[in-house]
Amino acid sequence: MTFDIDHFRVKPGDKLDLAEFDTRATPFWDSKDKSGALVRLAQLNERLESLQELLWAQGSERILVVIQAMDAGGKDGTIRHVFEGVNPSGVRVASFKRPSSRELAHDYLWRAHKQVPADGELTIFNRSHYEDVLVVRVEKLVREKRWRKRYDHIVNFEQMLVDEGTTIVKLFLHISKDEQRERLQARLDEPHKQWKFEPGDLGPRKKWDEYQEAFADALGRTSTKSAPWYIIPSDRKWYRNIAVSEILIQTMEGLEMQYPEAPEGVADIVIPA
Ligand code: AMP
Ligand code: MG
Repeated sequence: MTFDIDHFRVKPGDKLDLAEFDTRATPFWDSKDKSGALVRLAQLNERLESLQELLWAQGSERILVVIQAMDAGGKDGTIRHVFEGVNPSGVRVASFKRPSSRELAHDYLWRAHKQVPADGELTIFNRSHYEDVLVVRVEKLVREKRWRKRYDHIVNFEQMLVDEGTTIVKLFLHISKDEQRERLQARLDEPHKQWKFEPGDLGPRKKWDEYQEAFADALGRTSTKSAPWYIIPSDRKWYRNIAVSEILIQTMEGLEMQYPEAPEGVADIVIPA
């Protein structure tokens, strides 16, 4: 079955109701075929590895992958599984935590802009400038008058990056409230996961609906032709991993990258004994 990534794409200006999405859905895949998905993921890992090598060799494209989700939505796991086998030299993860006082002393895009990919690089934003219209909006960290304007800034900022040669892919890992409870519970139950449990994560959980609304607004207002959002049903981790891999691979294939020409006469060179 061909995996049509347009299916996951948010249309510009869409008014979304995230509760309408089935977070356990497995479009273009048999929901019972988990073992097949693991085999498929290994193939996709290899394909992504070659595409990243090509990206680096060609050295003129820049790729920015933005990942957002509720707590325990699988951002770290996605990065680990989707990029397995990819050469770490050409890939960088930028994680956006609570802003430092120095970051807060600047505009909210300052810290994001400093981390964008250069030629030949693929950069993953684990959280991003979108926090400034998500947690900031819901927790009222700045006034509405201020965050309302940010959707337009973000669209313009991303358009500038695209115009200057960056390809942007934005992924929302969509989990259900029940799935989040199970994953947070697992963090309490499994000793090697306890470090990940932050009592603070229970705060946003209490405001689930407000966060979902903030996400819906952000996705609808900032999904553009140049910098689309994709909504990934993410309750099943194995499915999420193949869906994300397909989206990245098909996007990179669309760039039609080529290895650079070998220098003149390379084929005739004989390495001296
Ligand atoms: P984690 O990704 O689990 O390490 O948590 C990072 C925390 O930083 C989350 O609670 C985010 O909501 C928070 N965070 C990230 N960016 C911002 C921001 N711009 N303003 C406030 N909190 C933020
Ligand atoms: Mg956390």
